[in-house]
Amino acid sequence: MNNKTDENIVWHKQTVEKEDRVRLLSQKPSILWFTGLSASGKSTIANAVEAELFRMQRKTYLLDGDNVRHGLNKDLGFSEMNRVENIRRVGEVSKLFVDAGLIVLTAFISPFKSDRQIASSLVKYDEFIEIFIDTPISICEQRDPKGLYKKAREGGLKNFTGIDSPYEEPENPQIHIRTDKHSIQECVDIIINYLIKFGYIEGNLEYAI
Ligand code: ADP
Repeated sequence: MNNKTDENIVWHKQTVEKEDRVRLLSQKPSILWFTGLSASGKSTIANAVEAELFRMQRKTYLLDGDNVRHGLNKDLGFSEMNRVENIRRVGEVSKLFVDAGLIVLTAFISPFKSDRQIASSLVKYDEFIEIFIDTPISICEQRDPKGLYKKAREGGLKNFTGIDSPYEEPENPQIHIRTDKHSIQECVDIIINYLIKFGYIEGNLEYAI
């Protein structure tokens, strides 16, 4: 896009604003950004957290890595450049959903710190909750629900995170979960508890574990 076009694009102020939607929905919109190795449990836990939030009548949307790659990002591969673009688009879509007043859950490996930082910089600091799904690679490899580790070990899959592509662990995630120490339900409880404790949703701290 050239500068001339930029000058001609002016943000249109809308009558219904974010604050109005927030009031209507009675929840604090935010992004629950799940990051971790493949098979660490991101999709499983994000899905279970969304189901619990739905049960609590909260308004949510789950953006899942594989699903987004079927549509919005189906033109992207797994090169480093494409992975960065994948996460950038997810960040921008999440930002729109936060503006819509939703609690957004994203389940992407998002291996690079810089990309997670870009995603977090798109919203207010307390609207981005980084959730590190921390599972030793040996366990991920045992689980291997999609057979991807096996494929990568055999050389049939290049740039696979943890094998021949790096995973940069979050240094200061808001929530750090070891799935080898907690059941899926306990992982859900930890996250719901956090949301209640810090005022994202209303509820009793009955989820504390
Ligand atoms: P990812 O989205 O990180 O690639 P998935 O959620 O697709 O990972 O797969 C994780 C697998 O590990 C699932 O088959 C899930 O049932 C299993 N699993 C076993 N224990 C746990 C746990 N405590 N938390 C999350 N997943 C677990």
